[in-house]
Amino acid sequence: MSAPVPGAAVEAAPPTRRIGPHPRGETVATAHCLDGGCGWGTPPTAVPPGVNVECLAHATATGHDTFAVTVEYVALVTDAGGAGRDPDTAA
Ligand SMILES: [Zn+2]
Repeated sequence: MSAPVPGAAVEAAPPTRRIGPHPRGETVATAHCLDGGCGWGTPPTAVPPGVNVECLAHATATGHDTFAVTVEYVALVTDAGGAGRDPDTAA
């Protein structure tokens, strides 16, 4: 067996698991203006598109155009074939 050639393509194994939002998990989004000294920010919301709307309104009102947007959610890993465990009954 020969050593791998640097820079050569590596064939990846097919994925056996995938990750996505937990069906019963919460999503929380926030945004903060990055214009120096502004201090504007949104309260946490469960509706991420609403954060973008608030950023657009703030940008229109102030001319500030750069924001730190954070979206956080609970993730669940499942088998790629669809055979996942039930998160309510699994230990
Ligand atoms: Zn601002």
